[in-house]
Amino acid sequence: MPELPEVETVRRGLADLIEGRSFKSIQLNRKDIRFPMRDGLGDVARGQTVTHVGRRGKYMIIELDGAKRLLIHLGMSGRLILGADVMADELFYQKQQINPRHNHVIMTFNDAAVIYNDPRRFGMVDLLDPDGGHYLLAHLGPEPLANEFDGHWLAQRLRFSKTSIKEKLLDQNLVAGIGNIYASESLHLAGINPKRKAGNIALARLVNLAEAIRNTLQRAIEAGGSSLKDYRGVRGAPGYFQHQFNVYDRAGEMCRSCGKDNIRKIQQSGRASYYCAACQR
Ligand SMILES: [Zn+2]
Repeated sequence: MPELPEVETVRRGLADLIEGRSFKSIQLNRKDIRFPMRDGLGDVARGQTVTHVGRRGKYMIIELDGAKRLLIHLGMSGRLILGADVMADELFYQKQQINPRHNHVIMTFNDAAVIYNDPRRFGMVDLLDPDGGHYLLAHLGPEPLANEFDGHWLAQRLRFSKTSIKEKLLDQNLVAGIGNIYASESLHLAGINPKRKAGNIALARLVNLAEAIRNTLQRAIEAGGSSLKDYRGVRGAPGYFQHQFNVYDRAGEMCRSCGKDNIRKIQQSGRASYYCAACQR
């Protein structure tokens, strides 16, 4: 599931391709993805130029010169296929193991196309409201890379919470864009056990945690940025690059911090958490 760094990587690739280009069409191949497609979505962008591609948490926002804005979320398995002519080449789909049957939305521009492909259909393509809002964005917490997000914000919001810190980090209303992978990685970097009750963590440790979250995300964005070079100029589906994780998906393996085989996997609210039993308290 793409988290903030993957979405940011896709956003950069998308911005490179479509900023300054004008829409020819939006073709909708289904009436719904996660939600029913909004009426008129297919016609709204025709002839309009993309002024900016932004991001809020795991959402991408395509701004048009006609003041309309498109909202894209990749859900669990969504991806954007970018290129000059991404529809015709069977070999591309074979190589990338992408099934073109899941091409749900096809946006065409002059000399470029963007395809929204999503086998599990937890994602979405929608319009922002005329005032720029959207109910899915209304309650999102701060961007973790913005100045307003820090240990003091966490301390204020987590006070008295009996929920585990790992589960709280997945709450998009606390902080936007963090999912299962970067929650595990950030807690490892901060030395905090994922099972610890969020309300029982001292301020100094939350300051470390906020810093660890920023560092973890920033490093992943940089790794994603270098993966962009591989596809730039040709067709591709950026954002699903391999990172080197410290704990995620490494149960039973050696912790790179303490050098012992202490990495454990547990379930928290049905999601896997990975942590080092020696380094994280
Ligand atoms: Zn360790």
